[in-house]
Formats: sequence, C-alpha cells, structure tokens
Amino acid sequence: MEMNAGKLALPETVREFGFFVDGKWIAAGNRRVIERNSPAHDVPVTRITRCTVDDLNQAVRVARDAFNDRRWSGLSGADRATVLLRAAEGIRARAEELALLETLESGKGISQSRGEVLGAASIYEYAAGAARALHGETFNNLGDNLIGLVIREPIGVVGLITPWNFPFFILSERVPFILASGCTVVAKPSEVTSATTLVMAEILAEAGLPAGVFNVVTGAGSEIGQAMTEHDDIDMLSFTGSTAVGRRALLASAGNFKKLGLELGGKNPQIVFADADLNEAADGVVFGICFNAGQCCVSGSRLIVEKSVAVEFEKLLADKIARVRVGDPLDPNTQVGAIVTSQQNDTILSYIGRGMAEGARLVCGGGALETEKGQFIRPTVFADVRMDMAVAREEIFGPVLTISTFETFEEAIELANDTVYGLAASIWTKNLDKATSAFRRVQAGRVWVNTTIAGGPETPIGGFKQSGHGRETGIYGVEEYTEVKTVHIALGKRDLWV
Ligand code: NAD
Repeated sequence: MEMNAGKLALPETVREFGFFVDGKWIAAGNRRVIERNSPAHDVPVTRITRCTVDDLNQAVRVARDAFNDRRWSGLSGADRATVLLRAAEGIRARAEELALLETLESGKGISQSRGEVLGAASIYEYAAGAARALHGETFNNLGDNLIGLVIREPIGVVGLITPWNFPFFILSERVPFILASGCTVVAKPSEVTSATTLVMAEILAEAGLPAGVFNVVTGAGSEIGQAMTEHDDIDMLSFTGSTAVGRRALLASAGNFKKLGLELGGKNPQIVFADADLNEAADGVVFGICFNAGQCCVSGSRLIVEKSVAVEFEKLLADKIARVRVGDPLDPNTQVGAIVTSQQNDTILSYIGRGMAEGARLVCGGGALETEKGQFIRPTVFADVRMDMAVAREEIFGPVLTISTFETFEEAIELANDTVYGLAASIWTKNLDKATSAFRRVQAGRVWVNTTIAGGPETPIGGFKQSGHGRETGIYGVEEYTEVKTVHIALGKRDLWV
C-alpha cells in the first residue's frame, strides 16, 4: 500500500497542545508545560500543558453539568450511535496524523501505530451498535398486581486514566463504551503520550458530541492523576496502568466509594506442550514477547515448555528472534521500536542484569542495541529460570522472555498460576482435551489457544487476581459504566395495610 511506501521524516516543528474542556481548547497560558522527546530520536516532538488541580476540578464540574442536564444521557441510543459512527470516520480521516503522533511519542513502529489507529476506528463502530443494544430486564412473574423492571442507567462522571504503552488503542477500548452508556468523561492520558487523546477530543467534538461530555486534562500522574482518584465528584474511575498505582487508586477511592475499573499488570504464561506445532508456537511466543517491545500488559513473558522439546524449542526461538527487525519506528518495516522512556529502559536493563546475577542462562539478547540516538533493547531470552527469580516473578514490561520447563500437565498449570497476576495466558497444543483442561484451570481473564494477543472489541478484557477489577469492551464494557436500578410498579387496587 502507498502508506507503507517508505520511511517517514521527523517533523521539523514541535506540536503544541492546550487541553480540552467544555468543547473548547484552552491554551497553556502561564501554566508549566511538559516537552516530550521522541524516544527513538532524542528530539522534542510535542509540548503539552501541565494542568493544575484547579483545571481538573473545573473539568469535573463541566462533566457533572453535562451529565446532570441530560444533554447526552437523555439522547436515544440511536443518536449516540450516530456520533460514535461519525467519530470512527473522523479517526479514519486523520489516521496518518494520529499514527505519526503515536509513533513519535511512544516509539512504536509506524506500521503498528497505523494498525492500532484503524483498529480503534472499528471499536467505535462496534460500540455504536452496543449503544443501541444496551437494555435491562423485566419480571413479569411477580403476580398480576406487580411488575418488576431492571433498568440500566449511566453511572455519571467517569474519570479515565490511561498508560503510555497503547495510548490511543487503550483510550479507544474505553471511551466509546463509556459514551455509549451515556456517561460523561474527564480523561487524563499518560504525561509522555498525551497527543492522540487530545486529538480525539477534537474528533469527537467535530462528530457532534455535545460540549462538556468528553474533556481532557493533561499533566503529571502524581498530581492530576492522584487528584482524580481522590475526587469526590467522580462517580467511577477507569484506571489502566501499573498494579502499584492501581493499589493507590483503590485506597483513594474509599473517600466517596467511587466504582473502580482497574486494568493492571501481568506476568503472562505461554504454555507449550510437546504436541504443539512447534514452529507456529515459537512464532507466537516471539510475537508475544516482542510486540510493542514487550511493553504490553498481555505480553507472554513466561514461557513454560515441556521438557522433552525444550532444547529444540529454544533453538527455534533464538533463530526467529535473530530475524526480528528492531530499529527506527519511522521505518514501516520496523517490528520493534524504541523503549518509551529512559527510566523504563533502565528498569529493563536492570532486570536483565538481575537475571544474569540470579544464574539464569542467557540464550540471546542481553542488553541495549547500540544506536546513535534513542533507546532500544535487543529481545532477550533467559533459560533455566526458576520461579523464585525476580525475572520470573516481576512484570519487566520489556522484551525479556524467561523459559522454565515442566514434565507433567499438573506441573505446567502450577507454574502458570504461580503469580500474583491473572491477566492473560496462551496454551499451545494440538490436543483438544489438553487445551480445554488447561484453559479451564489457568487463572487469567483472557486465554488464547494456539495463538496469542488476538481478538476484537466483541469480547471482554480484564484480569483475575492482582491484574484488576471489572471488564472493558464487549457488551460487558458498556454495562460496566452503568448502574442497575430495580423498579416495582404496583397494578390494580392496593390491598390496604391500615
Ligand atoms: P503507571 O501506573 O505508571 O501510569 C498509568 C497512568 O497513571 C498514567 O496516566 C500516569 O500518569 C497515572 N498515574 C501515575 N501516578 C498516579 C497516581 N499516583 N495516581 C493516579 N494516577 C497516576 O503505568 P504506565 O507505566 O503508564 O504503564 C505501564 C503499566 O500499565 C504496566 O504495569 C502494564 O501492565 C499496565 N497496563 C495494563 C493494561 C491492562 O489492560 N491490564 C494495559 C496497559 C498497561
């Protein structure tokens, strides 16, 4: 396709953003700003506003007014769907601009960004249907004098905090569902990847979303994010990010008992049985750890492979990883781009050091890729990993795979579940009985059989254990943002009590 014709040039100017409240851009004015460098090129690419807590409070007031006067929740599902469908068109019309901003701020390859932006448009289309499909229940079995209704109402003002790894895609797995339910939103993207969320505010406004329904404040997580978690006038907080910050959000939510949706970390197993198609399984395992440079909540970072094929499988992995194209994210052929920040880069390198110090055997990779500019890490594989090593227990959030082996089915399941997380798991076997027993026993919100990191907005996503609370996407993803109200209507003459 023409879009993939060649490597893109770095823009010559830094793009500046105000923030978006009540249907309008607000300039930074005398507020401080945050300048973002492209992690692959070390040059400034965007500048965002460091909003204050007063700015947040104003955005919440606006979202509250927009909710209370029913300018959005009072519309029919069909009218809400029209706006969501127009928003999908708006995303497609600005796809190249969004993809470039995403790549410049996050360091992910441009081909991947393009795929994510178009995928996001299709989520809006799915959610448009969900706006019309959302419904309650009736109880017509309460006798002739009573009928019961269970109705769903939008929960109110939703605070939305998102991470830097899939800034636009994760936003799009939340926003159209929140809007489909009739809620209003104050979003706070990660301070290092705010651009595409801000552009989305403009796209939604142009799609006909009433002013005040979707607002974006930008700035530091420790200030604005923390204030959102504590805010008494936010009815629900949807937080996607690390388990550590998720725990803080959980504690802070106690003030007003706000409902929480938490999508947190993972340490996801890839179980490979000896009867799998080993070549395909190795391809899936390499994709699962290299995709988004391993900075993916559902990265398959723990390979648990049957001992009888472990040597052969390790060789397949090393051969494939040597062919993965790591490099400039502006090159459409790049498969693995830069690491998002120097702190994240240091964290990954320090885990690689710990793996070696703990006695894991390095199969390939093992450090930084030497480049003139930017920060890149070579996909790294450790074998002979025991479950008491930090590299096997902690979420590294980088392209680092650990290999442990098993001899029995029970041992495989025990290893897979030996983690505080429960986000995702993959199972590779050609035996249907074995696959079924394994997906029944593994503790994870999403399980893939003979594939990994696949699926669309039709099905719910979320975690077991310390990977979170609640579900996003699918019909569940709209219901999540609703309250259930029970109504009883008496019919006929009352049987008097007094
Ligand atoms: P993070 O927790 O550092 O930040 C996430 C968001 O929280 C950012 O917007 C940040 O500004 C904000 N924040 C920071 N401190 C805060 C505070 N005290 N109060 C409120 N908000 C605060 O996470 P990250 O480094 O941006 O993302 C990586 C993490 O996100 C990984 O642990 C990953 O597993 C997780 N993640 C989970 C999912 C999922 O769906 N389960 C998806 C993507 C990422």
